[in-house]
Amino acid sequence: MKKYAFKTSESCSARRASSLKTLAAILVLAMLLGLFGCGPSSGEGSTVVIDSGTESAVTAAPFVPTEVPTEAPTEAPTEIPTEAPTPEPTPAPTQAVNPAGTGKKVYLTFDDGPSKNTPAVLDILARYNIKATFFTIGRMIERNPKTAKRIYDEGHLLACHTQTHDLKIIYKSPEAFLNDVNQWRETVKNAVGADVGAYYYRFPGGSPSAGGKSGRGKYVEAMNKAGYLGFDWNLAFNDAWLQGNTEHLPVIDYLWASYEETYSWYKNKQPLIFIIHDTLDESVELLPRAIEDLIAKGYEFCLVSELTDDYLM
Ligand SMILES: [Zn+2]
Repeated sequence: MKKYAFKTSESCSARRASSLKTLAAILVLAMLLGLFGCGPSSGEGSTVVIDSGTESAVTAAPFVPTEVPTEAPTEAPTEIPTEAPTPEPTPAPTQAVNPAGTGKKVYLTFDDGPSKNTPAVLDILARYNIKATFFTIGRMIERNPKTAKRIYDEGHLLACHTQTHDLKIIYKSPEAFLNDVNQWRETVKNAVGADVGAYYYRFPGGSPSAGGKSGRGKYVEAMNKAGYLGFDWNLAFNDAWLQGNTEHLPVIDYLWASYEETYSWYKNKQPLIFIIHDTLDESVELLPRAIEDLIAKGYEFCLVSELTDDYLM
């Protein structure tokens, strides 16, 4: 450094040198000037100064790190708040569909609609991303055709619970039953614009209503021949049989107690088929609680169209 500094100072101080002392003093001054002033504009000397300056610039390079913190805080907070609100509602329902890969399945089924409560049921199912089977009554579809179409459009199974649900008419004979089922099918075509879900049905009142356990066989056989599978249930709120049962309990508590009791009876049976009448307000109110309980127990929610045999009580 010194050696090159001399060269630098020589070129700057030669003009005024008269004595050694003066020269020495000037040299010191020139050295300083050479470093801070003359250097850059004067040949070899400048090379040195620039070199050392460059090194120190690299070492110091304080401007590079300055940029990093400037960018990081600016981008991070801007992106997070923008994206966060959108994905949040989606993950929760996705988990509900296949909560734990446990292989445990439950078949959620709704009877006697579409009713005034069915849109609320569909909203709940959408929130959890769950598909369900709706055993619908033709006469109710005629009253609520848009809801019937919504059931179909949202990917649920639109299944048959007869046209009239009138036990005196449908259980006269297997032919009478089939005739009523065919009327239901026409009603669905008119409401939905397609022939759907006709291959899955539930006997109004349950299969024992079709001539008792000994007499129902000819109904089941006739329906099987026509290509239909029938489903009773095991898990239940017992919401269609409230009469006289709730005198000691509020309705909600009675429904939940029924759910827990029937679950304890059938939890190890397959298929586990859950019947709910969405015509009862309290059943709809309890639906999210039941869904969350089943999710917590590790169940996946499936459609009865996955099953290949009748399930009768
Ligand atoms: Zn019914």
